[in-house]
Amino acid sequence: MDLAELAKAVSRLKYPQDEGDLTCDEPGHPDGHTCLPVSADLDVDDVVEAFGERYRDPRTRTYGLPPLPFDDRIGWTHAWSRFARAIAVGRGPDVRPVVAVAERNMPAAGTGRLAAIVSTVIGSVRVP
Ligand SMILES: [Zn+2]
Repeated sequence: MDLAELAKAVSRLKYPQDEGDLTCDEPGHPDGHTCLPVSADLDVDDVVEAFGERYRDPRTRTYGLPPLPFDDRIGWTHAWSRFARAIAVGRGPDVRPVVAVAERNMPAAGTGRLAAIVSTVIGSVRVP
């Protein structure tokens, strides 16, 4: 998608009541977000600038991003919160731009791991 198509697609997805639950077409991706196909010739900075004009004041990594999908793999740089959703822009492992719309209440990355650690700790406590 070029910038105009991307902006239109994001705009359609940002209201929860518009399109129902978010699902992703990418193989192996869980529900709760939608990855949008981005033209290879688009630059992350241009996407951020265009979304910034439209949605204002992004959250950045420095000031705290909302929980986003694949936070360990995608270099998310900017996110805008809209109603129950977050619009996220970053760079993939191949440095190409990645754009996703995610549920804002999706579990933070690492929550499952923390729960596993807590249950291990609890499991290792022995009652005399
Ligand atoms: Zn996805």
